Amino acid sequence: MKFDTFVQYVIAGIFLVAFFPTDIGPWTWGAAAIWTLWRGISLINEGVEEVNAARRQWVHTPPAFSSRPASAQPTAAVRPFQFNLPEHIPTDLKCPSCGASIGPTTRKCEYCGSILQPVIDLPDPVHLAGLTIGKGVRVRLAQGERDFRVQGRALLAELWQATRGPNVPWTFTGNLYAGFALSGVQTAYLLNWQNRFYLFEQGKTVNDLYVQQHFLPHARAFGQSDQMGRVEFPYEGRRWQLTDIGRSQVIFTEGQGLHVQRGAEARFLYAESGELRLMVEDYRAGGAAQDRVWMGYQVEESDIEYAPGS
Ligand SMILES: [Zn+2]
Repeated sequence: MKFDTFVQYVIAGIFLVAFFPTDIGPWTWGAAAIWTLWRGISLINEGVEEVNAARRQWVHTPPAFSSRPASAQPTAAVRPFQFNLPEHIPTDLKCPSCGASIGPTTRKCEYCGSILQPVIDLPDPVHLAGLTIGKGVRVRLAQGERDFRVQGRALLAELWQATRGPNVPWTFTGNLYAGFALSGVQTAYLLNWQNRFYLFEQGKTVNDLYVQQHFLPHARAFGQSDQMGRVEFPYEGRRWQLTDIGRSQVIFTEGQGLHVQRGAEARFLYAESGELRLMVEDYRAGGAAQDRVWMGYQVEESDIEYAPGS
């Protein structure tokens, strides 16, 4: 009971006791009795209405298992936006106008130009949104040009922590970046992260112990300096300087040749040594990906050429 209500009841009580011996005493007591009865009835009605509302909601809520969207997010995260992905994504989609093969995220048919309603409505990646499965792509390196074809595409969500600490949840920044499995004379992994672009031509699978021994202590030191300190470490006969650490999650994949699956969440680090770039992906145990060490080169967005479209 609120304090004012309590005070009102006390005042009403004093009032009733004071008026009891007077001529209008019985009338005031009668009025109080009627008011109390009316108040009681309305409280009962409110209660019945609440129970009915709850029952209606219970009856009309559809069973949750019919077409529940797959949640690829860590449950602790508060999300700036939600990815509403179906559990099973169809792979053999055709353009309704011309019959050309299209992907589940295709918004515009590349062959006939029809505007389509994509099966999965994800935001476009920040960069390289027009680079899709099957397209040819030329990457200019200092050593020369490389020609590839896109075999697979992954969309990676950028995660961040408001403050450092084990109990602070990792949340989406809202940025999606794209990674591409490429085939060519050699296979390669083309990756955009923030405003940086990488062509990794060497990748090897490693285990948790390997990551622990070679990289984790340095990543930790770099994190403790809020990524401001100069942290160097030896690896494969070179000295590397750490440039970035963070966390990402694979939100969507399509095509072939990718080393990750939807839902996989990684800690990563980037380091550089002269012209060479190193990227380490440390996937959570039990996730749908293996830890990997990548080596390659950084390029500019203008060094990546492909046919425009969609
Ligand atoms: Zn078409």
